[in-house]
Amino acid sequence: MKNSLSLALLPIIGLGVYAAKVDPMSEADLVQANLPKVEKSKTKHQILCFSKPFGFRHNSIEIGETMLRVMGQETGLFEVTFSDELSNFAPENIKKFDAICFNNNTHIQKGMKDEALRKSLIAYVKNGGGIFAIHSATDGGWPEYIDMIGGNFRGHPWGAGGTWDISNEDPKHPIVKDVHGGKGFKLKDELYVYNDFDRGDQRVLMALDMKSEVNGTRKGPREDNDYALAWVKKYGEGRVFVSAFGHNKEVFYNPEILKMWVEGFRYILGDTDVETESVPKPASNLPK
Ligand SMILES: [Zn+2]
Repeated sequence: MKNSLSLALLPIIGLGVYAAKVDPMSEADLVQANLPKVEKSKTKHQILCFSKPFGFRHNSIEIGETMLRVMGQETGLFEVTFSDELSNFAPENIKKFDAICFNNNTHIQKGMKDEALRKSLIAYVKNGGGIFAIHSATDGGWPEYIDMIGGNFRGHPWGAGGTWDISNEDPKHPIVKDVHGGKGFKLKDELYVYNDFDRGDQRVLMALDMKSEVNGTRKGPREDNDYALAWVKKYGEGRVFVSAFGHNKEVFYNPEILKMWVEGFRYILGDTDVETESVPKPASNLPK
């Protein structure tokens, strides 16, 4: 009797000890610990973070906001205004910002129906504004928005529960050269495939590795096998960075993804100039 009682108590005691010893890191701590150490920026830019979904709501929206707040503080690159008010896009308001981060907002065309606001956003970017688009920011839009982003969500055969092979297609490019040392890598995330995507309109940095066996367990709809996952482009005078990564929360404190995102921000904010001319898909990243 005595023995069975102490055995029954063991898990409870064990848990108590575990809880007392382990102080789980907050999401902000995780982002801070995993951010690349960069020299503090001399210019602090102003960013609007818009996170309102008008379709599917990702539960990584909050950690996306945390990531932005911590990245802004740690790098000195920017201060963030978090607001889901569409009035931010009116001409007199949008001009206060150097860039906009679209943080997993979905189906923006269903919320931003006002033609004047749409025109204001497009004109803002064409005149030199920056856009940082995370994951479902690429899901939806009206024609000019989709043209500005460079693609529109079609589906995600490579789903959030899988760990997929990613190819670094431009290993010398400043935005991705340090990500896993410029080499390919594995990532657990939901990876989008796009309609209205034309490689000729943007500089693709990362894509699904189409030689990968695990990726080959799923089939995508594109005959050209071009499944781009991160790119940069000029849009008029404006600068756009797109990351299909950003469904799973862990992506937001993945140290390698954070390297790419810091450099993506430096580009869209005009702190760095990078090549945005289109390059052909590397033959090495096509199925044999
Ligand atoms: Zn998603």
